[in-house]
Amino acid sequence: MRPEILFPLFAPASSLKGVGPKIAPLVERAAGPLVRDLLFLRPQGLIERTPTTVAAARDGEVQTFRVRIDAHMPPRRPGLPYCIKASDETGHIFLNWFKGYGHHLEASHPVDSWRMVSGKAECLTGRWSIAHPDYFLPVDRAEEIPRHEPVYSTTAGLASRTLRRLVQTALERTAELPEWQDPAWRARQAWPGWRAAMAALHAPLSPADLDGTAQVRRRLAYDELLAHQLAMAQRKAQRRATPAPRIHHAALADRMESDLPFRLTGAQRRTLSEIGGDLASGERMSRLLQGDVGSGKTVVAMLAMADVAASGRQSALMAPTEILARQHFETLAEPLEKAGIKAFLLTGRDKGSGRKVILEALASGEAQVVVGTHALFQDEVRFKALTLAVIDEQHRFGVSERRRLQEKGDAVHLLALSATPIPRTLELTLFGDLDVSRLDEKPQGRKPVLTTAAPTLRMPEIVKRLDQAVASGAQAFWICPLVEESEHLDVTAAEDRANALRQALGPHRVGLIHGRLAPAQKDAVMAAFADGQIGVLVATTVVEVGVNVPNATIMVVEHAERFGLAQLHQLRGRVGRGAAQSACLLLYDPPLSATGKARLSILRETDDGFLIAERDLQLRGGGDALGLRQSGLPDYRFVDPVAHGDLMAVAADDARLILQTDPKLESPRGQAVRVLQALFDWKPDASWSSAG
Ligand code: ADP
Ligand code: MG
Repeated sequence: MRPEILFPLFAPASSLKGVGPKIAPLVERAAGPLVRDLLFLRPQGLIERTPTTVAAARDGEVQTFRVRIDAHMPPRRPGLPYCIKASDETGHIFLNWFKGYGHHLEASHPVDSWRMVSGKAECLTGRWSIAHPDYFLPVDRAEEIPRHEPVYSTTAGLASRTLRRLVQTALERTAELPEWQDPAWRARQAWPGWRAAMAALHAPLSPADLDGTAQVRRRLAYDELLAHQLAMAQRKAQRRATPAPRIHHAALADRMESDLPFRLTGAQRRTLSEIGGDLASGERMSRLLQGDVGSGKTVVAMLAMADVAASGRQSALMAPTEILARQHFETLAEPLEKAGIKAFLLTGRDKGSGRKVILEALASGEAQVVVGTHALFQDEVRFKALTLAVIDEQHRFGVSERRRLQEKGDAVHLLALSATPIPRTLELTLFGDLDVSRLDEKPQGRKPVLTTAAPTLRMPEIVKRLDQAVASGAQAFWICPLVEESEHLDVTAAEDRANALRQALGPHRVGLIHGRLAPAQKDAVMAAFADGQIGVLVATTVVEVGVNVPNATIMVVEHAERFGLAQLHQLRGRVGRGAAQSACLLLYDPPLSATGKARLSILRETDDGFLIAERDLQLRGGGDALGLRQSGLPDYRFVDPVAHGDLMAVAADDARLILQTDPKLESPRGQAVRVLQALFDWKPDASWSSAG
């Protein structure tokens, strides 16, 4: 329920004076449907209208002049402007109107009268002019021209000035709200109260006031973060409150571990014990396992599934592609079988009697582990006791898909795997309602991939070297990028590249894989590459996800400048998996932008996915770094993940503390916090599970 104090802010924007049926839809497009949405607009710019003289005017800038009217010059033919010649002590300026203002202008601004005029001044062949002045007033009304004017990004047909006036009207309707911030904290920050902050937001006095680091903006960002973190903390608490089967650690998993051809890294051990703690807790686990490509997430998931199997229950591992599901199954089947755990593979390609056998094994409980694709959450798939759902590459699945798998059992523990390293600050934002484990240590003995960048025009030389490498038994990925979001064109580009390479290297040494191939064709190509029958695999980004071919040591990325940093890092992670030295070559089309250069050099300098993510975030500044919008970064109103990164952890702690001391939000501060939540209107769903 919405607190009464917020009613005026949640009234429709059309209830404001001056918002008629004609402009209401425009206001809605520019701001949103509510009075609150007008308040939540952020000024994007600032116009300073401090008066100046014609001699001191700056071309192309909004300025204000005090001028005398010299002459009225009505248009001599249609299409020409109505023009007023005016001047101050230092020079002339022409004021132009293009739509029949004639009589009205002549009557109200007679020759020899003095006027204040304000607008964008432009100088063409020595002639200063202003087209459609923003203000044109008698001198005694000069104070009506604001000295500092916020500029909002508006929408066609709606003047920024109208929007500004509406924001001011909205502000007048805004009462002071009860303080939801901790008083000591707020005092330390020296932040204004909420209403004063709102007023100051819309009255910037200098460009610095528009910056995310301005005090006022920080306060508002904190409010928003607190609202968001509270929603996530509530969600987490709710999920925890669901009782779930207790799974205890079993000797079986230890035996499997000691049979592995390698020793677990410290990070893998730590992660396993975090997962083990959740599984044994009697509460439902919701854990995200974050780890760079090659950090060894699969074996962690396998050992967790072993514990579940030892308790007589079932696990499902879901992968986003057929290739990946098969690969997982191939890795897991042997160790699981050796431990006496029955594992099955279920994908869209299992049909008829084969499929029936698998479905029966799942329904009877004979199958303790199932690996599969989207096929897993179809209606006919029933489990006897599904207890753990592992979702690989979780961002590749939609919310409903992830839910549907979880709904195949009562209180199914969730383990989501993600190979997209995310900066810590964003982790709270994206996954604040999950527990997060990090695999921040790579298995030993991995050699860093030698990374270089080269302009595309060096292609012939590169192909020659590739030819030699392939002749001596090396294998390479060659990635062609998406062409302007068009699947068709990107396939064509990949086909062309494959043909060119076939000519250079020989027809049987080059394979091609892309999203348009039938699943069976994809598998055949992938299998041939994994077997070493093909030397070079030309691919669109379908190989991005999880594919493991240890013998591949070369990664060529064409048009690397079109890829995001995180994506390049992922692609590079496809090589460097075996003992041999690997290389990654980033081909680009010059000239590179400064950011483009910086991105390529970050990749050359480091191999640490978390660090790369952090740097990428700084480089791109906020918002869409790493393509995070798609991965569920909320559409914040005031928060800039870079400028306000330091506030995220504080807000998360604050939210936790508030709920600990006052879970029902009944205390005075709790009540204020409710107002805050209502103000931002976070749906409890605004979290990872709504992403995708
Ligand atoms: P990802 O985290 O990208 O899913 P995988 O689970 O596919 O990584 O592991 C990549 C490779 O590393 C696999 O071949 C796996 O067997 C191997 N691996 C996993 N853990 C270790 C370890 N502790 N030491 C050595 N190799 C390991
Ligand atoms: Mg993986």
